[in-house]
Amino acid sequence: KVRIGVLALQGAFIEHINILNSFDHVFSFPVKTGADCENIDGLVLPGGESTTMGRLIGIDTDLKENLESLVARGVPMWGTCAGMILLSKKSHGGKFPDPYLLRAMDIEVTRNYFGPQTMSFTTTIHPTDFMKFETTKRMEAFDATFIRAPIASSIGSEDVRVLATTVHEENEVIVAVEQGPFLGTSFHPELTVDDSWHKWWVNERVLPTKK
Ligand code: GLN
Repeated sequence: KVRIGVLALQGAFIEHINILNSFDHVFSFPVKTGADCENIDGLVLPGGESTTMGRLIGIDTDLKENLESLVARGVPMWGTCAGMILLSKKSHGGKFPDPYLLRAMDIEVTRNYFGPQTMSFTTTIHPTDFMKFETTKRMEAFDATFIRAPIASSIGSEDVRVLATTVHEENEVIVAVEQGPFLGTSFHPELTVDDSWHKWWVNERVLPTKK
């Protein structure tokens, strides 16, 4: 089976684990310690609160070093919302101090771009042509849920590919990006019934790299 860890320090990790374990070919488990990072084919960094998650990583040197080594080895990672912030190289606009960041992706993010919790919303987004769904067939559009979500406000390298945008107050903003083995989405595909993003990521992004 494909072994997918989900960082389980805080936030919406159970939802990811449940969806991933509903696939016959996946074994998904919580990652709380450095030792949990061993023998892992892919890692999900969930939504939650990135300052809190970053602090919890920062006080556990073993976990921190193991996560950084997964980044250095190019193990596929997918950050949703706060997880996308952790994957970025710089964050702006948080109410809280800048979190510890894994700096895996050459993007800068703006936190809470769409406003506070009460401004949460679900909208339809259309993936760009980069996002091909060889294994899941459909996927012209997704319902995406945004909860105090960040956006990728600046892209620092040509190999960052924009997978989806949405329009907010007449601005087109980037809400899904990919760079090499790393994927960041502003929204929460683990909170909608549609499991296509998980299926796509496992089958198109993790399986092909499995040794
Ligand atoms: N606003 C949160 C942060 O800055 C992210 C919110 C979320 O993950 N739903 O970390």
